[in-house]
Amino acid sequence: MSGPSSSGFDTRAIHAGQDPNPATGDVVVPLHLATTFKQDGVGGLRDGYEYARSGNPTRTALQDLLASLEEGVAGLAFASGLAAEDTLLRTVCEPGSHVVLGGDAYGGTFRLISRVASRWGVEHTPADLNDADALRAAIRPETRVVWCETPTNPLLNIADIARTAEIAHDAGALLVVDNTFASPYLQRPLTLGADVVVHSTTKYLGGHSDVVGGALVVGDGDLAEQLAYHQNAMGAVSGPLSDWLVVRGIKTLGVRMDRHQANAARIAEYLLASPAVSRVLYPGLPEHPGHEIAMKQMSGFGGMLSFRLADGEEAALRACERFGLFTLAESLGGVESLVEHPHRMTHASAAGSPLEVPADLVRLSVGIEDVDDLLADLEQALG
Ligand SMILES: *Cc1c(COP(=O)(O)O)cnc(C)c1O
Repeated sequence: MSGPSSSGFDTRAIHAGQDPNPATGDVVVPLHLATTFKQDGVGGLRDGYEYARSGNPTRTALQDLLASLEEGVAGLAFASGLAAEDTLLRTVCEPGSHVVLGGDAYGGTFRLISRVASRWGVEHTPADLNDADALRAAIRPETRVVWCETPTNPLLNIADIARTAEIAHDAGALLVVDNTFASPYLQRPLTLGADVVVHSTTKYLGGHSDVVGGALVVGDGDLAEQLAYHQNAMGAVSGPLSDWLVVRGIKTLGVRMDRHQANAARIAEYLLASPAVSRVLYPGLPEHPGHEIAMKQMSGFGGMLSFRLADGEEAALRACERFGLFTLAESLGGVESLVEHPHRMTHASAAGSPLEVPADLVRLSVGIEDVDDLLADLEQALG
């Protein structure tokens, strides 16, 4: 693999896993659409390729790239973030296993664990990961996984990855970190003690709102083998065009994240001063409860922020509908700015659960447009 781990992040983003093909010299990883590969005699595989569910050279490039960026031993690409999560849970859990699910996890993760995995005998307990006693109390002898999202979606809470890893490991559980919001540019959980990193590559890694995908990255060879076995055996793999788009997106991850977070910081400041807003949730603000931990484990605060409207849910819904440049839509992490109402949109499946989010909350995925235009849109939407 090119882009040795001693190279800088942006160099690896452009080169890791992307050595030019020796025969043709393509500077860009080719899009391999073949579903099957010619064998040189029975079982004589070229470079290990046999059938495209089991392996495809475009997917290999993405997987090696993700492993390099997250500083893991292996990356695995899936058809979506949830497909990656499902494969992970069914690899490491069995009937009777238990999962501790931190804070306000992504609604789809909560649904997968509470409504789907539960039917196969996997139990779960929600816990505040920043309360060490509560976390220890939630862990049982059957706990296989502590599931941590940081920053969380949509409340931007921060969990201390190193401390959570210690507590999980003391109990013999794996620490899984959903690193979708930070991206490996800002945070590398495996270097802080996590065992598995989960991504929805649909978000910042793809970066252009044109591909759905997911990934797992692991720091341990045995676990990597078990997961690779299940990736093939369960079959929820990503397709080659998706892989190609994510590899292409990742090349600019660093420069995009720099702009996303510069714009988000300006918007956070603007919202703090707005009388329409009762609270701004952004880990870059010194008054944010997770600010100190974020300073310790992240190299920046990212492009996601949420805020609460002083006049409640009606005001939040009205604001969502008045935005112009910010598009009213689910998802996040693309170059364009998006706004949404988590309570009614992305997190509707958590209603009535301990993970329910406030109804006066508005979430922004701050894009990389000119910040003055974004501020003008905020002003007219809240005005
Ligand atoms: C979107 C998202 C997921 C799920 O990924 P999909 O690609 O939509 O399946 C998981 N975690 C977080 C934090 C997300 O934002």
